[in-house]
Amino acid sequence: MKKKPSVAYFCMEYAIESKVKFYAGGLGILAGDYMKEACDRKEPLIGIGIKWKQGYGEQRIDHESCKPYDAYINNVYKFLKDTGVTVNVTIRGRDVKVKVWQYDAHGVDNLYLLDTDIDGNDDEARWITGQLYGWFGEERVAQEIVLGIGGVRAIRALGLDIDVYHFNEGHALFAGFELIKEKMDAGLSFEEAWEKTRDEVVFTTHTPVIQGNESHPIDRLIYMGANLCLTKENLITLGGDPFNMTVGALRLSRKANAVSDLHKDTANKMWDEVENRCGIIGITNAIHIPTWVDQTMLELAEKYNGDDKSRESLWDRHMHNKKELIRFVENKTGVKLDPEVLLIGFSRRAAPYKRSNLIFSDRSFIEPLLKNKKLQIVFSGKAHPLDDTGKEIISNILAMTKLYPGSVVFLENYDMEIGKALTTGSDVWLNNPRRPKEASGTSGMKAAMNGVLNVSTLDGWWPEACQHGVNGWQFGDGYEDVDEEKCDAHDFNALTRCLLEEVIPTYYDNRCKWIDMMASSINTTKLRFGMKRMLDEYYEKLYNK
Ligand SMILES: *Cc1c(COP(=O)(O)O)cnc(C)c1O
Repeated sequence: MKKKPSVAYFCMEYAIESKVKFYAGGLGILAGDYMKEACDRKEPLIGIGIKWKQGYGEQRIDHESCKPYDAYINNVYKFLKDTGVTVNVTIRGRDVKVKVWQYDAHGVDNLYLLDTDIDGNDDEARWITGQLYGWFGEERVAQEIVLGIGGVRAIRALGLDIDVYHFNEGHALFAGFELIKEKMDAGLSFEEAWEKTRDEVVFTTHTPVIQGNESHPIDRLIYMGANLCLTKENLITLGGDPFNMTVGALRLSRKANAVSDLHKDTANKMWDEVENRCGIIGITNAIHIPTWVDQTMLELAEKYNGDDKSRESLWDRHMHNKKELIRFVENKTGVKLDPEVLLIGFSRRAAPYKRSNLIFSDRSFIEPLLKNKKLQIVFSGKAHPLDDTGKEIISNILAMTKLYPGSVVFLENYDMEIGKALTTGSDVWLNNPRRPKEASGTSGMKAAMNGVLNVSTLDGWWPEACQHGVNGWQFGDGYEDVDEEKCDAHDFNALTRCLLEEVIPTYYDNRCKWIDMMASSINTTKLRFGMKRMLDEYYEKLYNK
């Protein structure tokens, strides 16, 4: 049998444990779940990331004004192992020391984290690994020099033998520059070094939102020293001018993947104009099942045969999980929800395309449902610290919790713990991104495997899984329109019909069908959206040649 290639996976964030704040959102969740699966299976795969001092901002709520704000806390993690390795990178012409830690807890021991907050660095250098996505411009480039260039140097200093360098998102791109530099130092020309480097790099692209694909003026990259030995012309050849990190990664990789089938089409269209780029295939995201799914639900669904007894057991277990969530919400907010009322969970980053407040578009629709105890909704979600629109969306939802106390609840500071509680204990998981902006989404997979029924637009992973009225529901029929208002009106209308004609009647009047759907939701998703399948596909389609 051919030996498996050894892989170094680079990512800006990793979500391994709720309270270990090296993550912001979905990208980190995917990376953390991936590392866990690789560890479980003892794959020859390591992760390279950053040891964030403060991580992503913690969300706090000012209840008087209904406004969210961000708090930053210096975290100390005693469980990190000192590898004894320090490497150097040059930033703005100055030497910066980068210390290498090894994550060794929570089922993960293959993750190396880079840290500039050490003695010997001046204050400016120490803050490079301060805040995850905290800054733009030069500071972001400095962070990416540490991750990419520092990352490759760390791999060399640790003596690790790597066949494939996998960039999860464009942040790690400068690792490619270091790989080119190594070869040019050994005497190759830029073109030769580029070609050889391309042979060992693969890339996963995520966001289909154009602003989410970072770019930098060429002069900034040179001023910061990110270019190493690459000339201005070399940089433009790779990433254009201004330098687009995604374009650069697509030209530095032998293969790239998008994170769902639909996203593959979107990404190929989006980067259609880019010459000389690698192909983009689709490998749909997945979740690490032991982290997110109630084992008992899985077992009950496995044995499910639709008779009264198996229905009752599945429902009882779900009610157990739902009551846990209700207790969790009460502990956090003092609000006691009603276990007999249909509970909708919704937690998302407050990015405008995710339309967190779509369900509140028309008060005359939602108000009677909430007041007549047909629905209750639990929200959670953070806005990016610099995203004022996102913060406004949160304010809007907070205002709804005041209008409908006891029926609409907001949990502050969305993290893995909240994500798990909601995707385990809700009845319905609502997801309404403006298609085709959601690359994949993984929270719906967590819900699906816990028997929490998805009610979602056909975006991201859901078109691959949805059997309408069998394992969940879709609404909107995959409608797309560049006119956002039109699209929102269309989808809101579809959502109201789906809730009034299908979801609510099934829940209250046809509980047997509901429970059948829960079993089907679990059984139709657990293999296809479990991390085992994704890791296998990464090896088959990306890593193996
Ligand atoms: C699962 C999860 C995500 C990713 O979910 P999406 O479906 O992409 O919104 C983000 N944040 C947390 C805390 C999660 O648990």
